[in-house]
Amino acid sequence: MQGRAYDGYMKNKSGDRSSEKAPKASARVGSNVRPIAEGVLEIDTLLGGWERVTAGYLIEGNEPVLVETGSQSSVAILLSALSAIGVGPNDLAGVVVTHIHLDHAGGVGDVARAFPNAAVYVHEKGARHLADPERLINSASQVYGPLLDSLYGRLAATPQERIHVLPDGAEIKVGHSRTLVAVDSPGHAKHHLAIHDSLSGILFAGDAVGVRLPDAGVLRPATPPPDFDMDQAIHSLHRFAERRPSQIALAHYGIIPGSPDEVVEEAIQVLNNWVDVAERAMHNGGDVIDALEKAFSKELSGASEIEQKKLETLNGVHSNAAGIRRWLAKRDAGQL
Ligand SMILES: [Zn+2]
Repeated sequence: MQGRAYDGYMKNKSGDRSSEKAPKASARVGSNVRPIAEGVLEIDTLLGGWERVTAGYLIEGNEPVLVETGSQSSVAILLSALSAIGVGPNDLAGVVVTHIHLDHAGGVGDVARAFPNAAVYVHEKGARHLADPERLINSASQVYGPLLDSLYGRLAATPQERIHVLPDGAEIKVGHSRTLVAVDSPGHAKHHLAIHDSLSGILFAGDAVGVRLPDAGVLRPATPPPDFDMDQAIHSLHRFAERRPSQIALAHYGIIPGSPDEVVEEAIQVLNNWVDVAERAMHNGGDVIDALEKAFSKELSGASEIEQKKLETLNGVHSNAAGIRRWLAKRDAGQL
């Protein structure tokens, strides 16, 4: 490691682990960076200028690895956070995207360019889109419409030779006694991986557990088209619990309160509730979006208007309804 600030943090980390160290590190590196465990920094990548919507995580060690870049529009924020932490251009050893949706992977081409030694890790089913993003951008433009350019940005290509596929169970060495283990976790998307840190025990769950913005405080499922698959999503959640993580960290946003067992149980319950409401509406010839709004808007009544807007932009009822409807139709047609 070259950066002085980074060296300083490493020293703190290996010495006194008391919680007084945390505010100091956070004060030095800026208010959007926060230590959440030994050698784990949460970076708020401030999608759209919004706080606590999109998180990246720096896992520290001799070979530091970033989990999630956030969108391309967040790259400037991310790079200045990494620089403030003391991660120099030659220091970052790896960057993992949990999946290739643009709010998670949109920045990866730019990050790869800024950190020429970093290997780029991705699910097998996402790899070709990082090397050749044109099709991904085209489909994203249909999903996001004008928000593609006004909010998310696009995706710069990553050179093929920098891309490493992570099969289930693959390990990335971060330090002497720290590895990150890839957990294949389809359901939200077929190209979804979670990452389990051996040292802190934290499982970085991407979007596979759902979305819970801390200021809204409600866990919602993330079931977008075209990939959402209920059975796979539940299977992935059970696999998370089986790994006995210490905590679960969401991309949207941060460590989710509660024991991982409780969190997984709640995530399964929430998925079941949403799919049940959608299915009933479909069978009764009702409107799925209306039915979901009616059933679940009340739980957000305590959240501010801006929190509701963040959630609707990132993980709207419209998108969840479309994903669930598509999965139910495939299931009913025997196409799963
Ligand atoms: Zn997401």
